[in-house]
Amino acid sequence: MAAKILQIEDLTVNFDGFKALNNLNFHMDYGELRVIIGPNGAGKTTFLDVITGKVQPTIGRVLFKGKDLRSIPEFRIARMGIGRKFQTPRVYLNLSVRENLDLTCNKNKNVLSTLFKRPESAESRNVGGLLETVGLTTKADLPAALLSHGEKQRLEIGMLVAQSPDLLLVDEPVAGLTDEETENVGALLLALAESHSIIVIEHDMEFVRQIAKKVTVLHQGSVLCEGSMDQIQNDPKVIEVYLGHQSSLSSHQVKILRVAASIAWSDGTLSDAEQSVILKRLSEEFTNDTAEQLELQDELRNYLYTEVDPEPLLAQLTEPEDREMIVKLSYEIISVSAFNKGETKVNLEESENYQSLIERLGLPMERVREIEAGVRQSL
Ligand code: ADP
Ligand code: MG
Repeated sequence: MAAKILQIEDLTVNFDGFKALNNLNFHMDYGELRVIIGPNGAGKTTFLDVITGKVQPTIGRVLFKGKDLRSIPEFRIARMGIGRKFQTPRVYLNLSVRENLDLTCNKNKNVLSTLFKRPESAESRNVGGLLETVGLTTKADLPAALLSHGEKQRLEIGMLVAQSPDLLLVDEPVAGLTDEETENVGALLLALAESHSIIVIEHDMEFVRQIAKKVTVLHQGSVLCEGSMDQIQNDPKVIEVYLGHQSSLSSHQVKILRVAASIAWSDGTLSDAEQSVILKRLSEEFTNDTAEQLELQDELRNYLYTEVDPEPLLAQLTEPEDREMIVKLSYEIISVSAFNKGETKVNLEESENYQSLIERLGLPMERVREIEAGVRQSL
């Protein structure tokens, strides 16, 4: 069995009768970068609070590098190698970027000595390396107050790394950041993940997609499911939690639909009219009941609106029936979309993508033509 940096066993945290965490089990390998997502109130912050010793388990235990953390005070747990970055940056605004890093690199010095003493050369090399890692070398001598929100987040991540923790806990690092800053923070976390074990809590799904290898979904204080981003996104339990109702689609159907939807997006647009025609036709594929069709259209809309990479899904959809279904839906989409735009031929981008999809599906050509003819007849 691979050594675990973190093992959480049957953890329950009871706040006056309310279980913020409920029989939660969680394991993480050394060197892993794990993203934790979950709706508000799922228990994410409490989860971090228990790991750092701020909150004690009511039942169960937390093992860090094999050691039970029960009753160990917060500051000692920090010294054992768990560093936490809070949501809002906590940097000294009046000190320069370099001074902020100096401070954390030399924990036994106080603010004044950092200001008035020259750093030792080994230490300054250390700080130089950190400045580079967090991408703030050119801003090293500016007061932290002049940094953008994203740069402050990166500085604080640098300060955390300066304490050489074995496990970094990062709570919503990109909340309120611009797209560009979000990407920078993502790149920084990915770089740090090469040499650290990291847990990131995050809401921003674009960002999760950028950095995630393995994702854990929390819901009502327990682990709802765990896996790659792709597995998570297609898991009916997750869809239900995020969309707030029971999904009537199987995870299998969702995958098929996502591949077909990627064709609809090939020309970069999806007009309202195009969308409603597509949804109407797709819902008819999945059920004969009119009321169910309407309900399904609401659900399908959520899939049509996110662009996805069809490749990993295609690798999972190997059955000929699945692939024929993809051909049918995709052909339907491009035909409907051409028809709706009053064009006699399908648009170029869509048809090019459709053709290359057909090649990748590897079905017999006669079968493909048969399916296409069937669709044309039904239009
Ligand atoms: P998340 O970070 O996923 O939004 P939290 O861990 O903050 O969730 O909270 C989980 C649940 O526990 C919420 O319903 C919250 O109201 C409750 N909770 C959190 N801390 C306390 C506390 N100290 N006392 C009572 N209830 C709490
Ligand atoms: Mg929270």
